[in-house]
Amino acid sequence: MARHTGPVCKQCRREGDKLFLKGERCASGKCAFERRETPPGQHGRNRRFKKSEYGMQLREKQKIKRIYGLQEKQFRNTYEKAEHQKGVTGQIMLGMLEARLDNIVYRTGFAASRCNARQLVRHRHILVNDRIVDIPSFLLAPGDTIKIREKSRKMLMIHDAMKRVKEGKLVPYVELDKARMESVFIDYPTRDAIPIRANEQMVVELYSK
Ligand code: SF4
Repeated sequence: MARHTGPVCKQCRREGDKLFLKGERCASGKCAFERRETPPGQHGRNRRFKKSEYGMQLREKQKIKRIYGLQEKQFRNTYEKAEHQKGVTGQIMLGMLEARLDNIVYRTGFAASRCNARQLVRHRHILVNDRIVDIPSFLLAPGDTIKIREKSRKMLMIHDAMKRVKEGKLVPYVELDKARMESVFIDYPTRDAIPIRANEQMVVELYSK
């Protein structure tokens, strides 16, 4: 699958917000966005023109897509699945993105970024309900348990990531038992519980044109 291979921090500067793509670095003084908020490129500093409605919708779509590290096709598929469900499409779409295994591994604190979480899943370090699942896009169901595989528990990458998390609920829909290196996906989140700054309604408007 194609994936973004360019400079990661440029994505935050492009979207004009911190997308938290690099784990610990994002919370440190080394964050590229905090040092320079202008869009990347030679003329980034001079770009002051007003965005069109389409331009704003496009940027919101790109922003959410980049936060979750998805390619256009995967993102569009998630939107289309959300569209077929009852309820507010944008919120259902975000709920589905949050219920992805790679995202919950990140939210649990087993990995410092979604990119690292995806690597843990692909390399078969993660169990869902005591079975190995190596598909990052695997959608969790309420009540599913997520564990680090026994033989992977000493991995430095996991221990380093877990130093920054506390026991209990990190977000209202994930509960961590730190000693057992185990978490539970409690339920699909409501919009106000999802800690991302983005306007998902603009994605709906963009895709329904
Ligand atoms: Fe974005 Fe993190 Fe890079 Fe800062 S350090 S620009 S938040 S990816």
